[in-house]
Amino acid sequence: MRASYDAVVIGSGFGGAVAACRLAQAGFSVGLLERGRRYGRGEFPRDFDKLDGWLWGNDHGLVDLKPFHQMQIVQAAGYGGGSLIYANVHLRPPPEVFAGGWPAGYSRATLDPYYDLAAYMLDITPVPENELPAKTRTLRQVAASLGRADQFCLPNLAVSFGAPGVERTNKFGAQQTGCNHCGGCIIGCNDHAKNTLDLNYLKLAEAYLADVTTQCEVWSIAPNDGGGYRVHFRSWGPGGVQEGYTDAQRVFVCAGAVSSTELLLRCRDQWGTLPKISAQLGEKYSGNGDLLAFAFDAKLPFDSCQGPTITTGLVYDKESWFILQDGGFPDGFSNLVRLLDRTGHRGAQTYGPGTAVFLAMGRDQANGSIAISPLTGELSVHWDVSSNLPLYDAQEQLASDVARALGGTVGYDPLWRLLHVPVTVHNLGGCAMGDDAAHGVTDGTGQVYNYPGLYVLDGGVLPAATGVNPSHTITAVAERAIEQIIRGWTGDARWQAPEKAAALPIVDPVSQLKIPKGGVMPTTTPPISLSLTENMKGFLMKSYADASDFAGAEKAAQDAGATAEYTIEINFTNLDQFLNAETHPGVTNGTIRVTGFTGPDGAPTRNGVFNLFVPTGNASERRMLYLLPFTGADGKPYVLDGFKDVKDHGWFDVWGATSTLYTVIREGSTRDGNVVATGIVKIHLPDFMKQMTTFRVHGTDDAGQKASAMARFGKMFLGTLWSVFVAQNPNLAL
Ligand SMILES: Cc1cc2nc3c(=O)[nH]c(=O)nc-3n(C[C@H](O)[C@H](O)[C@H](O)COP(=O)(O)OP(=O)(O)OC[C@H]3O[C@@H](n4cnc5c(N)ncnc54)[C@H](O)[C@@H]3O)c2cc1C
Ligand code: SF4
Repeated sequence: MRASYDAVVIGSGFGGAVAACRLAQAGFSVGLLERGRRYGRGEFPRDFDKLDGWLWGNDHGLVDLKPFHQMQIVQAAGYGGGSLIYANVHLRPPPEVFAGGWPAGYSRATLDPYYDLAAYMLDITPVPENELPAKTRTLRQVAASLGRADQFCLPNLAVSFGAPGVERTNKFGAQQTGCNHCGGCIIGCNDHAKNTLDLNYLKLAEAYLADVTTQCEVWSIAPNDGGGYRVHFRSWGPGGVQEGYTDAQRVFVCAGAVSSTELLLRCRDQWGTLPKISAQLGEKYSGNGDLLAFAFDAKLPFDSCQGPTITTGLVYDKESWFILQDGGFPDGFSNLVRLLDRTGHRGAQTYGPGTAVFLAMGRDQANGSIAISPLTGELSVHWDVSSNLPLYDAQEQLASDVARALGGTVGYDPLWRLLHVPVTVHNLGGCAMGDDAAHGVTDGTGQVYNYPGLYVLDGGVLPAATGVNPSHTITAVAERAIEQIIRGWTGDARWQAPEKAAALPIVDPVSQLKIPKGGVMPTTTPPISLSLTENMKGFLMKSYADASDFAGAEKAAQDAGATAEYTIEINFTNLDQFLNAETHPGVTNGTIRVTGFTGPDGAPTRNGVFNLFVPTGNASERRMLYLLPFTGADGKPYVLDGFKDVKDHGWFDVWGATSTLYTVIREGSTRDGNVVATGIVKIHLPDFMKQMTTFRVHGTDDAGQKASAMARFGKMFLGTLWSVFVAQNPNLAL
């Protein structure tokens, strides 16, 4: 490594490879520092019985797993970054993606020439018809059987097809062979059939004399007094562990969304070397709406061990936008997949055939954040599952539709199934571009606000989820940005990548799909719902003078023998939406009997509304609301309108607060009608004990999912009571 360069590039994934290649082609001296090692042909690990070589955290291996509490992250470490273990998919997001949050100048139209350039460099193409694996043909058939043929496509892949095993020299001078469909794409292609970055962009960068140092991790960046930056690294090559630094006029941080954000956070907050980075650093993190699903025991032909890993895409565009793709795993992963199969009844050898893997990804809200604890210095990723549940729900339902159409049973990874912690391989944001420092960390060229000459060019600058697999967009954005940077730096306003002229427009498969006006067909799998049955009894006095004197009316009704009773099933028809909504609504159905209004057998009440723990504006108080419509014996419409006052009345009476319904009967079917009876109905302890046995989870046969649904409901219920009676209680000194 030299003492200084014109430009230092940190990381050799999609952003870093583009930056290093173009800067070297433009004549700048480039030092490229990559923490991982080089993987030549045949050098990717294949011993499934040992951890050696696999994990970054173990021995600086290939795969960097970051198991945060709210998000499980998978990323790569090696010369070529994510391209070494990714599933090769290159797709363009629909134009709407660029409508929100992107800085001025970004649109599908302005990016299209750079997508074309990326497509040329990475030589992308779908699997040819004559090489389609069984799973691809099956999924095409399944999409048609579900009425979704118009939303099905074969995505472009950065893979060389044709003539497996036959040597050829690619247009950048690297040796490759044709894909043999071994299914090992996500553990590194030992045949160099994948068009990984070391075989194209990085090959060119080195041809233009970029100076590459692998096994070299950058831990700090600091401005130099005379301009430019000093980059501090730790390396562990053949010479053992060494600390050092190198200087550069311009520095390109391309370590991937999470690692680039971490590096800048440490420089701003821990080392204090870059204190003026925007407060937006770490914000707008997105997992690109990733959801991993399985179909076990599929009856239609499906071999997940036949590659390439991903070969299909099924777009869902209604309230949410996402794409469901087939996945795969190498033969040696069968033991791992067996652990995920709840039935667990098959031998390790049979998990490829009959087990389908799906990866859904979509437009989440990019409302996560990456942070470093000021106390421990530990990195954390915060992800708000609840606000992204409509997307995850729709993904689960489509995955379940497809699993059933395959003749199998849907499954999810345990962390999602039981705890709703997603796993993502598509980290974005954290150093998001924005029009100014109040809205972003970097400008439209990736330059860090307040630090001229310091850039971020990788998934970290994307300010929104792409919905589709993001590498194509990361590459196109980097191509567009580096062109502008080089034009500014060289003063040559016409500079462009030498390959740009040869990069002809190509057809993107997702752009060709037909989405009906109003969106695609809804899924047929119901969402997970929860129901319970409630029985309450009490006294309601007709025409009681003071409609707000519930206790007085109750007493008068008791003396007059005017009773009231209802039995209703409360259905939370979509558990996720119920938990997420502020008013926590449920639908009620059952019977209601009120002296003087209904006959002795009562009247049906249908499609009533129940709200659990509605905020009142007072943190230590919530209300449960009931609105139960019925038709009286006189043929007129009435509603039972009641509320439970959930607050500490001073004697810590949780039971009283949650079991006492202050009730009126109104004329008509809304809360505006005249009050015609008043009183109180209550749930009695034996009925409550019975109610506890009536909880039912619908929409899944999976015992784990059922238990998880109950636990999530219980957590919300008890959590709210805790907050009302304990956390917010001024009488308790906590
Ligand atoms: C299993 C899997 C499958 C995937 N499939 C697809 C797919 O089919 N299509 C798709 O579009 N995307 C896919 N992805 C995601 C894709 O790999 C990433 O979106 C992409 O690689 C991100 O590019 P990047 O430039 O942001 O950073 P990366 O590609 O992550 O590159 C960052 C590089 O920086 C290095 N680095 C990190 N920190 C430092 C440091 N401090 N000093 C020096 N070097 C450092 C890392 O080792 C790494 O090589 C997949 C990912 C995984 C894990
Ligand atoms: S299936 Fe994947 S790993 Fe196997 S040869 Fe093809 S590209 Fe390489």
